[in-house]
Order: sequence, then C-alpha cells, then structure tokens
Amino acid sequence: MTFPSYRDRYLPAMTPRRIRALPDRSWAPVILATGAIEQHGPHLPVAVDALMGQVWLSLVLARLPAGASCYVAPPITIGKSNEHTGFPGTLMISRDTLRSQILAVARQVDAWGFRSLAVINTHGGNMPVLVPTLREVRALYGLRAGVLQSKPVSDIPAQEAAFGIHAGEVETSWVMAAAGRLVDPSRAVCEFPARIEDPGEVRPVAAPALVAWASKDVSKSGIMGDATAATAEKGERWLGQGAASLAAAIAEICRLGRETAR
Ligand SMILES: [Zn+2]
Repeated sequence: MTFPSYRDRYLPAMTPRRIRALPDRSWAPVILATGAIEQHGPHLPVAVDALMGQVWLSLVLARLPAGASCYVAPPITIGKSNEHTGFPGTLMISRDTLRSQILAVARQVDAWGFRSLAVINTHGGNMPVLVPTLREVRALYGLRAGVLQSKPVSDIPAQEAAFGIHAGEVETSWVMAAAGRLVDPSRAVCEFPARIEDPGEVRPVAAPALVAWASKDVSKSGIMGDATAATAEKGERWLGQGAASLAAAIAEICRLGRETAR
C-alpha cells in the first residue's frame, strides 16, 4: 500500500534537502487542505470533510496539466465546526486556533521559499475564517494566497442546489464513489432546511436576515439535503467535474506565478 497516493508532492514525505532542491518553488503553489470532523447525518462518517480533502488531492494531482506543478502541506483535519455542537462525533477548534494554524503553515511555506499558498477547503464553516486569514498571509508574508473553488457541478436538482448544503445528495454521492464502505445508505433521509417554493424566513442560506444558525435549529437528522437520492455513479461524475476545475485553477495559479517570478 502506498499512502498518500500523491506522496511525490507531499512535503512531509520529503527530506529537507529535497525540499530545498525543488526547482519550481517560485511559482508552484503549496496546497493546504482544510476540513472538519463533524456530524454528517446518520449515514455518513464524521470524517467526511477531512476525508474529502484527501480525495480531492488524489484526484486533482492525477489531473494536473502538463507544465503545472504544486506541493502539498499536511492537512488541517479539524476545523471550526461550532455550528454542529450537540451532535456526537463532532470535534472542533476555535476560529482563533484555525487562524493560528493557517498562519503557522504559511510562515513555513514562505520560509521554505515558496511564493504561493492555495487552500482546498471542504467545510463551509471554515470559510469565514479563511478569507480574512489568507488576506493576512498576503499582507504578512507577501505570499499569493487563496481558496480554490471548484465550479458547481452540473445536473444537480434545483432544490438540492439551493438547500442541499450538508450531507445531502452531492456530498453523499461523493463519499459513495470515493469510500463506499463508509456509507450506510439505509440510514439516509431527505431533510431540507427550506423549500424553494416555500423558503420561509429562517434558514441557513439566502435568508432575509443572516442568522447564526446551528444545525440542530434547522435539521433533526443533521442532514440538509436529499441523501436518499445519492448514488456512487453520480458521485463519480461530480468528483470528476470538480477535480477537473480544481486542476484548472492550480494550472492558472502556476501560470500567474511564472509570470510574476520572471
Ligand atoms: Zn461536509
């Protein structure tokens, strides 16, 4: 067994001499996966977001176009998940700890001579910390820094696209495709926090007032979406689409990095 599958690009698998000798540090980004360990309904393991970071890395690195390059930092697997308080299995760090961890990685990335840091984030609750922290990274160390966005996948039902935000059809399909043995489809349910035709006033996304919601306010099962519609075949297709757009984003960072390094 070989782990991780992308170890040729995994910085912790390298000797200091090898890292120092990497010829493309001035333009190849270091990728940092930020995830979470938190409840994902009764049918999925709590490590989904941490696991998905590794899944994306394996898929994306296998699809890097010719001429593109990147390296991988050790992942941050526990995130800011206080919205899932009250469900067993949720681990979390504070926003301050998450910020400190990202800054600590960025400081070393800079010290090792890299010029850019790109985050693959698999947990929505990390985003409100990531955006200002990456701006700090830019200001403090001069690194180019950003969150890689995968393009929205095609052929998702409108209801799922609007309110399938956690452990629903998309996320469950991904895990069925990537690690099917970890899924118990017999426990999957459909539970949306709102309906497109009757959105109501208090809901996690696109609400008239931005509420500091907790999962238990809007979902009994912990699912927000239709997990019963998930299939491994959809997951395979959506993972492929997402990985292709992430690989294109990395290639673009490399292109910009090369231009600046010149
Ligand atoms: Zn998730």
